Amino acid sequence: MSFTHRHLLGIEHLSPVDIGAILDLAETYVDLNRRTDKRSDVLSGLTQINMFFENSTRTQASFELAGKRLGADVMNMAMQASSIKKGETLIDTALTLNAMHPDLLVVRHPHSGAVDLLAQKVNCAVLNAGDGRHEHPTQALLDALTIRRAKGRLHRLSIAICGDIAHSRVARSNILLLGKMENRMRLIGPPTLMPSQVAEFGVEVFDDMEKGLQDVDVVMMLRLQRERMDGGFIPSEREYYHRYGLDAEKLARAKDDAIVMHPGPMNRGVEIDGTIADDINRSVIQEQVEMGVAVRMAAMELLARNRRAELAA
Ligand code: ASP
Repeated sequence: MSFTHRHLLGIEHLSPVDIGAILDLAETYVDLNRRTDKRSDVLSGLTQINMFFENSTRTQASFELAGKRLGADVMNMAMQASSIKKGETLIDTALTLNAMHPDLLVVRHPHSGAVDLLAQKVNCAVLNAGDGRHEHPTQALLDALTIRRAKGRLHRLSIAICGDIAHSRVARSNILLLGKMENRMRLIGPPTLMPSQVAEFGVEVFDDMEKGLQDVDVVMMLRLQRERMDGGFIPSEREYYHRYGLDAEKLARAKDDAIVMHPGPMNRGVEIDGTIADDINRSVIQEQVEMGVAVRMAAMELLARNRRAELAA
């Protein structure tokens, strides 16, 4: 068994072998999830608590489904109605839950680093479901599985991540993962939406979509993350769409069989043209959602195996 981690906090801590182990196991769950009877018992007897301090549709739903399909007892904490609102700190809330003996804690938090901090205070497995602009590891893993299935490999591809890179944990986790698997990475977006340390990433940077998309295999679009912006990063949404929105004309620069991805939620007519998002010959956006459940099942199974081994020792 090669996967030895206690938590899944970021792609930063994973090796290419770890990534391969999660994706290979996830493939078996893609098959299971397509059956009428989707039940497995690999998490049977274990308790999973989902704590989302930030809104989520896809990620929370898929972690919940993943846990239920694997037979865990799953509890979703309604964080908006929790004691956090009464002034309790994140750590006190975590310690309170920890005393109830959960086995898996799935956490999303608006502050970068908050999930790592929490993982140091509890003794169960912690999965990062997105922390600030830092990491969103299961998103990068589900993107990797989607790419591997569509392209038949996960190395030596030319991959463009486009839009609001600076505020995106999805971009950061994907740059790390796809870089570790030896792909050629390009970041495309306005200079105001590029992270200041971009030169350290070992990627090519473009502020022109037509140039940046030339001959790429994968086009990954990102949402403008206004909740993390504190000023005017773009002139207007109309101008942004004109220069950076993915439309048929810009996509024509990519390879003929290039796939289009988006982590959601999508803003049609801002970063992507609705017709492209719905084009089943190019867009793999729905496959991404499907892969999300499978990847989260795989990640939880691997962490649960390590947890059971640790408790038995
Ligand atoms: N759903 C992704 C995230 O939580 C992307 C986004 O919100 O734009 O980071």
